[in-house]
Amino acid sequence: MDDAMNRRDWLRKLTISGAAAGLGASAARVTAAQNPGEQSGFQSSVINPREVQAQRCNPSVENGRVLQPARELPVLHTTDVLVVGGGPAGVCAAIAARRTGVDATLVERYGHFGGLWTGGLVLLVIGHIVKGGQQVCQGIGEEMMRRLDGMEGAIVDRRPGVAPTVDAEAVKYLMVEMIEEAGVKVLLHCWGVDAIVKGDQVQGAVFESKSGRQAILARTVIDATGDGDLFAAAGATYERRSHNVGLVSRIGNLDRVDRGRAAGATEPRHLGSITPVPGVRWVNMHGPEVDGLDVEVLTRMELNHRKFIWNNVMKTRHTPGYEQVYLVETAPQLGVRITRVLRGLQTVTLDDLKNGTRYPDVIGVGGASNGEHGPWQIPYGALVPERTDNVLAAGRCISAEIRMADLVRLIPNCFVTGHAAGVAAAVAVQDGCLVRNVEVTKVQQVLRDQGAYLG
Ligand SMILES: Cc1cc2nc3c(=O)[nH]c(=O)nc-3n(C[C@H](O)[C@H](O)[C@H](O)COP(=O)(O)OP(=O)(O)OC[C@H]3O[C@@H](n4cnc5c(N)ncnc54)[C@H](O)[C@@H]3O)c2cc1C
Repeated sequence: MDDAMNRRDWLRKLTISGAAAGLGASAARVTAAQNPGEQSGFQSSVINPREVQAQRCNPSVENGRVLQPARELPVLHTTDVLVVGGGPAGVCAAIAARRTGVDATLVERYGHFGGLWTGGLVLLVIGHIVKGGQQVCQGIGEEMMRRLDGMEGAIVDRRPGVAPTVDAEAVKYLMVEMIEEAGVKVLLHCWGVDAIVKGDQVQGAVFESKSGRQAILARTVIDATGDGDLFAAAGATYERRSHNVGLVSRIGNLDRVDRGRAAGATEPRHLGSITPVPGVRWVNMHGPEVDGLDVEVLTRMELNHRKFIWNNVMKTRHTPGYEQVYLVETAPQLGVRITRVLRGLQTVTLDDLKNGTRYPDVIGVGGASNGEHGPWQIPYGALVPERTDNVLAAGRCISAEIRMADLVRLIPNCFVTGHAAGVAAAVAVQDGCLVRNVEVTKVQQVLRDQGAYLG
């Protein structure tokens, strides 16, 4: 039997034993032998032998208004702690909740984890240190950094007092590894669109995906969407802010610049900063201050930034010595910095940073952009909505005054608030109480046990 035959037999076997079994007993498969494109190696099956018609509950136009009838939603899953949003904060929250000993489910609208850190190509991790070089971001965030240290090509400039830069694919890989190790239930390609609420208490969330509109019921919810999508839907109060919206990109072949030819030319602009990949740099972009929740604005930003980046790279290539520089990629995710910010029981303020205020309910310590000031404590109340219950904020949307926004949103500070939210939510579940009534000393103890630094 020749090699080609072996391969075809193997494919047929796979059709029967593996892939078809995954589709259910009723699957009628078109195999290579029945298929005119026999050599293609593809298989296709009819999953439902009857013609499928979706259950309908269409909105209709009544007197010029679009109305949607009430409908029952299928419950996809029930969990102890539901984390919506898989960025730096959400991933830490889900792992922390699970490690504290409860069920945790992490739902993300895209197909990968890391949020702006990976999908936004924001590769420089700043904010983990304070004046004097002390590192205040510890816990699960620091564990991720240490694990990146051990991975090939994953991180550069990782030494005391310096801001390291990571590789986005390495971070995506590591996050999957850590989430799977912790035993977190994961749903990707699933967009949180509403909160399930009784009175002032959140009981879960509604998601849209290719499977339709489904509900996940939870004993506690953590909003780690960055934009406060869930706490806003639940009726929590928040401040809506505009901020600079940019689009990050990576450019390549910077190690192939002909320095001799480039010597007489003006150095091109926007050459970015180093990454773990030799010759590849990441290029940050401020962009204009706009409303990052307005879909028309977001569309305009994508189109404008994309044109700007391409034209800038072309300009670079027309500079003597830089002819081989090329655009590796633009970030799949637009760089939205701040939109909704929770109004919490407490608010992180600049005065508290300056005064070195110490909170009895401290759940973490924030760092500085470049270690230019001292540590600032983050109180638990900054994660807890004023009124709405059983939902916590984590990451860039926690309660912080506008002067603190650019510190609160740094990646390590999002690790810290995510870690704390996960532990607090889990302790609330274990003690059968609302998140606002959780015993903070217990949360602090678990956080310390999990390696967090509380000052
Ligand atoms: C251009 C730019 C440059 C920056 N530069 C730096 C820097 O140099 N260093 C630094 O430390 N920080 C920097 N930051 C800040 C930092 O990247 C972010 O503030 C940080 O990633 C926020 O983490 P997060 O987990 O709170 O939110 P995000 O990273 O925004 O993650 C939120 C996650 O939730 C998901 N999500 C959102 N809505 C929903 C929904 N409704 N349903 C399901 N999933 C949802 C998103 O897809 C995403 O994965 C920069 C930010 C930008 C935009």
